[in-house]
Order: sequence, then structure tokens, then C-alpha cells
Amino acid sequence: MPLMPSAGLHARVALDKHDFRTSHALGQNFLLDDALLSHLLDLADVSAQDNVLEIGPGAGVMTALLAGRAQRVLAVEVDERLRPVLESVLAPHENASVLYADFLKCDAGTLVDGAFGGAPYRVVANLPYYITADILLRLTTCARRPERIDIMVQREAAERILSNPGCKQWCALAAIVRHYGAARVLEDVPAAAFDPPPHVESCFLEIARYAEPPVRPADEAAFLRTIHAAFAMRRKTLANNLKSAFGLSAQQAADVLDRAGIDGRVRGEALSLEELARVSDALQELEH
Ligand code: SAM
Repeated sequence: MPLMPSAGLHARVALDKHDFRTSHALGQNFLLDDALLSHLLDLADVSAQDNVLEIGPGAGVMTALLAGRAQRVLAVEVDERLRPVLESVLAPHENASVLYADFLKCDAGTLVDGAFGGAPYRVVANLPYYITADILLRLTTCARRPERIDIMVQREAAERILSNPGCKQWCALAAIVRHYGAARVLEDVPAAAFDPPPHVESCFLEIARYAEPPVRPADEAAFLRTIHAAFAMRRKTLANNLKSAFGLSAQQAADVLDRAGIDGRVRGEALSLEELARVSDALQELEH
């Protein structure tokens, strides 16, 4: 029986053959070790019913291992130079396909509906760190949200995502992720595990979508706008942020906060999700 080379070895050979040089600007820190990746996919509990969206497959080792476990894998890669490498590494996996595009320019809902026919899906990825926040904001607010997100992120980003109201790190991203699901660190991953090693620490993060969101604002789009407004200028009070974001007079901003039962002198970062929802609902009442 012919020996199947590991996906990592296959990728290293293909990267060498095509004389591939990683791009720092595209956040290319690859994971090429089958054993480590298999362990991460065990932690992520990837199984045969799963439809998986991967953002940034790189040389495709995680993609190949995902394809070996899941039903279907759609990977979105911006760097066309990786095409010959990915074609070679993924050749044995008919259930994996790669779309060469900038994920931030794609409509995530259309993408996953096309790939998975409207079935539920999850995200597993070693993300390009320079756009972690943008990717997460899209995934957690798009019309077709994943059931679960398992991603490699910079340790600092994980700390922000896991922060609580009133903390220095509590931010729009943390509030929006908390509205979507429960986050926890599954594993710290040393820089030496990556090729090339990044200059930052990394961890593998799970965000499991809530069956029922923790708060139910009257209008979710307005709620998301309110969150962005509350954190827009961190040195301004909430009342001033609301004034500039929604063009309110001082009196209108005061009325909104009064209706929401919130002291206008507080800063956005002190507000809980529940309080942000009350502000959003009070703003809606003002408009109607
Ligand atoms: N998953 C691979 C691995 O673990 O070895 C690669 C991970 S590497 C940290 C991030 C990948 O995301 C790179 O392949 C990079 O080219 C890709 N990438 C960067 N920006 C992207 C974007 N806007 N859309 C899609 N992929 C992107």
C-alpha cells in the first residue's frame, strides 16, 4: 500500500517547489504540523456532519485535516500565489473547495448559502491577525451566522473579546461577540508552532453561538449601531458620543439616557449589554 505523506509534509514540499515566500502583510504565519492541528481539531470537536468555512487556508494543512473529518469545507484565500500549493495539497479531498477572494469583500451569507445549500455551518480557522476584528464582526452580525467559531487569534485579541463591562479592554467587538455567543480559550499555542513564528502570543478560541441571545433589543441593526456609537470616542461621555453619532441635541441625548435609566456622564465602556440595549430602544422611541 502506498504511504500517504502527512498533509504538513505535502505542503512543505509544494511550498518549496513553488518557491513560496510568506507575506507578513497578509498575516501569513502557517501551521504545518499535522499532530498539532489534529489536536486543535479535536478540541474544536469537528465531526462528519459539519460544514466548515475556513478563512485563510494558507498552504492548506488545516484545510486537508478538516476535509478528512467534516462533511464539506469551503476555504477563502486572498493570495492567488497559493493556488498551485492548495491544488496539490487538497487534491485528495473532493469535499474541500477554495475560493480565491478577499473575505472582507465577500457577502458571507451568499458565500455559505452557495457552498452549504442553506445548512448550518461553523468556522474553523487560523486567522490573519491584522483583520481578526473585522472578520469576527462580519461573522457574528451577518444574516447567516455560524453555529460556532473556533479560531486562532492573537492573545491580546482574545483578552479583549473575553473582557467585561467596565474593564479597559471592553469594546464594541467584545460587546458584539458577547451578544452572539460564549467565548473561551481552548489552548495557548506557542509562537514556535508557526512558520514563520509571529512576534505575538496566540491562542485557539472557541465562540459558541447562544441559542437565545442574552438581550433582545427591539431592533438589532439599531442595537449594533448604538454599540459602535457608545465606544466611538473613548474619552467622550456616552451623551456626547450619542450626540455626534446620531445628530442629537443635548436635550435629546439627555432624554434618551433618562428613558434608558442611565447617567449621561458615564462612558460607553462602563455599559453592560443590557444597558446598551436599553439605550438602543430609547433611541428608537425617540425616532418614532
Ligand atoms: N490556515 C493557514 C495555516 O494555518 O497555516 C494559514 C493561516 S495564516 C495565519 C492567514 C491566511 O489568511 C494566509 O494564508 C493569508 O494569505 C490569508 N488571508 C489574509 N488576508 C485575507 C483576506 N482578506 N481574505 C482571505 N484570506 C486572507
